[in-house]
Amino acid sequence: MTDADVTGAAMTISDFAYQALPMRVRFGAGSVGSLRDELELLGLRRVLVLCSPGQRHIGESVASALGEYSVGLRAEAVVHVPVRVADSAGAAAVTSGADGCVTVGGGSAIGLGKAVALRHGMPVVAVPTTYAGSEMTSVWGLTANGRKETGRDPKVLPRSVIYDPELTVGLPVGVSVTSGINAIAHAVEALYAPDATPISSLMAEEGVRALAEALPVIVADGADVDGRRQALYGGWLCGAALGATTMSLHHSLCHVLGGTLNLPHSGTHSVVLPYVLAFNEAHAPTASAALSRALGVASSPADRLWHLARELGAPTSLAELGMDPRDIDRIVLEVTERPYGNPHPFTQDSLRDLVSAAWSGKWPLCSLAPRPSPAPDSDSRRRLPQ
Ligand code: NAD
Repeated sequence: MTDADVTGAAMTISDFAYQALPMRVRFGAGSVGSLRDELELLGLRRVLVLCSPGQRHIGESVASALGEYSVGLRAEAVVHVPVRVADSAGAAAVTSGADGCVTVGGGSAIGLGKAVALRHGMPVVAVPTTYAGSEMTSVWGLTANGRKETGRDPKVLPRSVIYDPELTVGLPVGVSVTSGINAIAHAVEALYAPDATPISSLMAEEGVRALAEALPVIVADGADVDGRRQALYGGWLCGAALGATTMSLHHSLCHVLGGTLNLPHSGTHSVVLPYVLAFNEAHAPTASAALSRALGVASSPADRLWHLARELGAPTSLAELGMDPRDIDRIVLEVTERPYGNPHPFTQDSLRDLVSAAWSGKWPLCSLAPRPSPAPDSDSRRRLPQ
């Protein structure tokens, strides 16, 4: 990586196609108070409020503030949207005569709202309380018999998003850290995505910068609303970058680890990210330079992320998350069978090295060693849709 890369002085703009997703955002402390106005604006009069069981109290206060605009509350959202939960929330929405859903919570609540939108065409308004970024994408997921099916559909993209940092003050610091690193992972893969554009890359770089600044503030004081504000802003941008691009090895590997072994979603992202980035960074020099700028380092961004995760108290190995090392080969096989692209093409052997290192927390990954002449970002990719 040269100094010119780090400062951006050598930037050139290649040809690209960019499709903006329609989205409306209200951002600010106390902005959940404008939810009713937002529903009015969208022409919604009877919404079902959805949240996770742990956020029932926030869901209840939102439903009660909505008054006659709310037809009820379902506090049953869980990670990865099991089909039976989507069935039950969808039936409740239909029988209550709802004309839309309001999700209050993280990716689990938003995922449930997306499932109802997918099946019943009901618009979603999202009030996110983590940094996972699902509110900015048209990606849905549904899980049955241990297998998660995903797809993209414009109708699941929330019509409006209300970002209220005050609602995130109660998010435990540990979850805030892993959720923030989960958001950074979206930006990392957006920066080296085959369909990255200058617009998505701007959002990704700024999102990483905002989160890298905000997370230490939140670790020092989880009630710091300015830190929460900045993290939510970063999560928004990273989610929007994810929504505008296709994902690569990191997301594929984390989806398999989460789906097959039931490892925790954001904790898995936190552990795996530095390893996949170390594997890729010499093959994605433009993305690496943007990440170095965002993280304020002149050297390897993967190395900085590995240290940052430790400074913030995030989990440091897949072993710590409870993964049995005998599952490494199974995971490697499943990931290599999936049609995801990656800047640095991988084999079963190289992926086994990577997963083994992430399992033990060993650092650095040997791919961090400098390479003589890295291929440009666009040359070494398999360009595959998802
Ligand atoms: P989550 O929604 O399950 O929330 C994580 C934990 O934080 C939960 O225990 C929840 O109860 C708690 N929590 C949330 N808000 C809180 C608050 N304000 N105060 C206290 N506790 C709070 O997890 P997540 O990481 O936000 O989302 C993960 C899910 O989202 C996964 O299913 C993942 O696949 C999906 N996801 C989808 C997309 C997409 O584009 N479709 C993007 C990112 C994540």
